[in-house]
Amino acid sequence: MQMTTAESQTSLPFIELESQFSAHNYHPLPVVLSRGQGVYVWDVDGKKYYDFLSGYSALNQGHCHPKIISTLIQQAQRLTLTSRAFHNDQYAEYARFITSFFGYDKVLPMNTGVEAVETSIKLARRWGYDVKGIQENKARIIVFENNFHGRTSTVISFSSDPSAYTGFGPYMPGFDLIPYNDLSALAKALQNKDVAAVLMEPIQGEAGVVVPETGYLSKAYEYCKQANVLFIGDEIQTGLGRTGKMLACDHENVRPDILILGKALSGGVLPISAVLADDEIMLTIKPGEHGSTYAGSPLASALAITALTVLKNENMTENAALMGNYFREGLESLKSPFIETIRGKGLLNAVVIHQNHPELAWDLCLILKENGLLAKPTHGNKIRFAPPLIISKIQMDECLEIIEDSLAVLK
Ligand code: PLP
Repeated sequence: MQMTTAESQTSLPFIELESQFSAHNYHPLPVVLSRGQGVYVWDVDGKKYYDFLSGYSALNQGHCHPKIISTLIQQAQRLTLTSRAFHNDQYAEYARFITSFFGYDKVLPMNTGVEAVETSIKLARRWGYDVKGIQENKARIIVFENNFHGRTSTVISFSSDPSAYTGFGPYMPGFDLIPYNDLSALAKALQNKDVAAVLMEPIQGEAGVVVPETGYLSKAYEYCKQANVLFIGDEIQTGLGRTGKMLACDHENVRPDILILGKALSGGVLPISAVLADDEIMLTIKPGEHGSTYAGSPLASALAITALTVLKNENMTENAALMGNYFREGLESLKSPFIETIRGKGLLNAVVIHQNHPELAWDLCLILKENGLLAKPTHGNKIRFAPPLIISKIQMDECLEIIEDSLAVLK
């Protein structure tokens, strides 16, 4: 039986109001937040928590980073939106900045992560026809079991998760779903000359932080090169320092042909995403063939520059690597009988709760909440632990204590 929830009298009206007037497309933990700073959030009763979800890794820089908020306020008072029907004085500098930051010829700005994924699919198909010479409407893209790339109807068309796709057909054709972390399956799929691209998460975040074997990414990339196929790296969740390198692909020195970023590109302020590629790929899309009203706005451009700058200048990636190792070692030393596996890289981590007690993942999250730490189960028995990258050792020690005490309650 699942644990009953413990909503406070202050939070209950918010929870009931939301349930009455909002679509029921999420199942939130019963906590109502009203403030955030750094690694902490506070609920409507003033209770303080460590945020171990970080807005699904959109808050790598922590809540309300003063420099990011200062850019937000300053730019919001000058110019927020022009649409790209006109030039603006922030976007050009942002395009120069982000392309040199990641080492690509061009950027195509979008808003949400899934829009960037959609953009990469369009780009790869266009490249397939114009450059590779695939026959019109025949291009295929290889994707992986247990992938998560967002929620649009195209993207759920190649999901292997029934809760993502059931009842939403008909589905977009042109995708080949193969097992993840399986090089021979990839080699076989790449034999089809109509394959334009491979779309891969370097670590499968939503699936429960599934880390492929060392060497898988670099080999997969090499196979793509041999087959004249583009490697699309979806780093929306894994990128921007989260795994202890600027990009998770950096762990194996892989430079995706198309790089997709989102989430922490704004430090949790606005939906800002980006697709990066070199000219041979990016210039296959011509004026009028793709775009979005808000993408590349002066506000988004200014914010993304600051979000990337603080990430780098404040050594958040290095801290993620250090604190990630420290966290996993700390968890291992607890030797909890409820934990089957602890896995992750940097500060993208998950514990898998023992198969015999999958419901305990939700229960444990409720106990953690009572004890002042917010985390959320993903796919039943997995709990993702992904705090902001600015967490200190003292804070991490306190979090490990909270987790230890909470596991003890389960017994
Ligand atoms: N790709 C990956 C790897 C993700 O983890 C996510 C979101 O969790 C997305 C794409 C979709 O991003 P968004 O929710 O901003 O559309």
